[in-house]
Amino acid sequence: MELIDSHTHLDFADFDADRPALLQQSRALGVQRMVVLGVYQRHWQRVWDLVQSDPDLHAAFGLHPVYLDEHRPADLSELGDWLSRLAGHRQLCAVGEIGLDFFLEHLDRERQQALFEAQLQLAADFHLPALVHVRRSHAAVIATLKRFKLPRAGIIHAFAGSREEAREYIKLGFKLGLGGAPTWPQALRLHKVIAGLPLDAVVLETDSPDMAPAMYPNQRNSPLHLPAICAALAQRMNISAEQLANASTRNACELFGW
Ligand SMILES: [Zn+2]
Repeated sequence: MELIDSHTHLDFADFDADRPALLQQSRALGVQRMVVLGVYQRHWQRVWDLVQSDPDLHAAFGLHPVYLDEHRPADLSELGDWLSRLAGHRQLCAVGEIGLDFFLEHLDRERQQALFEAQLQLAADFHLPALVHVRRSHAAVIATLKRFKLPRAGIIHAFAGSREEAREYIKLGFKLGLGGAPTWPQALRLHKVIAGLPLDAVVLETDSPDMAPAMYPNQRNSPLHLPAICAALAQRMNISAEQLANASTRNACELFGW
């Protein structure tokens, strides 16, 4: 069984003590490729150095909405510089993590929106998929994506929306990232939504070190947990783990052009 972890933060210090061993163990469990998403300017070099150390790692660069108050205006032009310097490199795979977070109320929504749109424009200009963080902001994200119509679309990370919202994203060509959240027994609405998703619209992810699945509560999440997440979600979707793994790997390869 071959798996792809389409969303990780393996550059975070949480992995400093055991990163090489963890990557090796993950591969032994079938997690062949992993995407590492940069969330702020001060880590982009770290993300790139990490993926350069391992041919199965791929990088995305972006300015994450949760760190809005940390981003400087110059970071946006620097993001453009990074993307143009690495354009066409096989290990550059997307713009992300970008998006809108309306859960955290101290984050200015107008500034988030402007930052999100500027980065969607970069994804369009560099012909890259966008990896999108959406929290309590589906309506705004859907309206924005409808205006941009990215040719390569992207992934809605940690999708936890409704059936209707799923349908809108799928119409726009987006894949829905599924990870730890739907493994929790109390996520009843999400269980129903994922059971109805078309298999060609889903990709698996962990969001390591965050979003631990129910099987490994209160632990550092890592790509080592992806096979168990795949098995738990497949059960909710009434398919075999192999079917979900195959579909998710095929979808990720198609999206990233692998
Ligand atoms: Zn993330």
